[in-house]
Amino acid sequence: MICETYPLLVSDDEVLSERQLLQEQEAGPRMEATESVRYLILHCSATRTDQDYTVRQLERDHRARGFRTVGYHFYVRRDGEVTQHRHLLEVGAHCRPYNRCSIGICYEGGLDTDGRPTDTRTPRQREALQHLLLHLLRLFPQARIMGHRDMAGATPKACPCFDARREYGWMEGTATSSI
Ligand SMILES: [Zn+2]
Repeated sequence: MICETYPLLVSDDEVLSERQLLQEQEAGPRMEATESVRYLILHCSATRTDQDYTVRQLERDHRARGFRTVGYHFYVRRDGEVTQHRHLLEVGAHCRPYNRCSIGICYEGGLDTDGRPTDTRTPRQREALQHLLLHLLRLFPQARIMGHRDMAGATPKACPCFDARREYGWMEGTATSSI
């Protein structure tokens, strides 16, 4: 029989009571386990294809909305550069009410030069997205790849301006967690 006494040390964090532990689990910044990740949700930054939208700008805009940092886990610039902004099991801020069971991936763009929703992904972005998704599927083989607009209850919008199910759905189940 396990008999715990508090305070406990849980991976460097001191837990003062069982109540505190449960509260942190409930409202905490982390998802519980890799099985928690049910969706890999794709977004666009809804910026014009001829405009730069840097990580710094993204961070500034998300902070202005009250987020601690960038709400997505990953951001893919037009040149294919990928940056990570949240830990893999950290709860993001990109698609309510699915933030506790998803990973958010955003590509720079999504609007044409006149501001209309368009698939503006460059070849390098496509390559980087596919590579990232395959990698994430190895870690979360049960996850489904979705576009923001495919999520039930999501605010009607065009994001990510392409059919993510049609383009990436085939990848689900092809990755093995052993790699
Ligand atoms: Zn979105």
